[in-house]
Amino acid sequence: MRIADKLAERQTFSFEIFPPKGELPLEEAYAIAGEMAADRPDWISVTYSAGGSGNSGNTVPIAASIERDLGVTALAHLTCLGSRRADVDGYVAQLAEAGIDNVLALRGDRAPGREAIDFAHASDLISYLRSTDADLCIGAACYPEGHVESPTEQESFESLYKKQEAGADYLVSQLFFDNEDFYRFRERCLRHRVRLPIVAGIMPFTSVKQIQRMAFTCGASIPAKVVKRLVLAGDDPTDQARAGVEYACEQLVDLAANGVDGLHVYSMNKPAVAHATCEALRACGYLGA
Ligand code: FAD
Repeated sequence: MRIADKLAERQTFSFEIFPPKGELPLEEAYAIAGEMAADRPDWISVTYSAGGSGNSGNTVPIAASIERDLGVTALAHLTCLGSRRADVDGYVAQLAEAGIDNVLALRGDRAPGREAIDFAHASDLISYLRSTDADLCIGAACYPEGHVESPTEQESFESLYKKQEAGADYLVSQLFFDNEDFYRFRERCLRHRVRLPIVAGIMPFTSVKQIQRMAFTCGASIPAKVVKRLVLAGDDPTDQARAGVEYACEQLVDLAANGVDGLHVYSMNKPAVAHATCEALRACGYLGA
């Protein structure tokens, strides 16, 4: 089912997985997806070479298995830096063969040797996908605190408007740790004529090291209330991870109460973390039993 149709019907709830790196078997990803599917998310998204990991060849097989074997809608990511139109045509053909309607169209993280060839920005990819015969439901990324490369707020919203005008159906946000940033962003979108549904992306942090890395790669700010939780958790990795999941659950419950269009958990191949967020939303009545 098309994700835009789900968003038109209800507040959605979704998870994300990334293909296993290196030589790890695909079965590992299938098993993780299977565990996550038990919580009946509206969709599971599968990343495409995120962070330059080079594992893009496994995105479609995993997404296909999610649709075919688990009966859950899959969202296949696709990045365009370093790609030619023919590469995109090939990917679209794979999606069609696998019966996947949903794609998240991205530029991709910059990495050495990954220069723009036929596409410089996500909006170029979206326009191209719209020009093909494929009738895809297309999502795009948005950034509640602005994209790290956008020098001004105006430019950030202009890029977003271009994605909308190119034919994106909805947006999925970068992670953020202060819901007020998301609420402000939602209001500003309307002022900048961006009217697409916006799915809020939440990452349960699992350690001090991980949250620091995310802050630098995504430009997400770490509020004092998160720092305090981590200080209280101390050096114990289990306590740090528990603090991260608890904080994410609180964020999700607040977002659900504030009527966001959808809730997306960057569950990072951790079914137990995904399940905990689901349980928190169920306990507050935001998801069916
Ligand atoms: P763009 O929309 O192209 O924006 C990039 C920068 O260029 C921004 O600063 C923007 O303001 C500017 N810009 C946009 N259009 C124009 C224009 N026409 N003229 C001038 N400037 C412009 N990365 C991966 O590699 N794989 C993944 O699977 C993946 N999944 C992601 C999922 C989500 C939900 C999010 C939020 C990010 C994901 N990323 C992934 C990271 C993403 O690729 C990076 O954030 C990347 O830096 C920007 O991608 P974009 O699609 O927003 O690019």
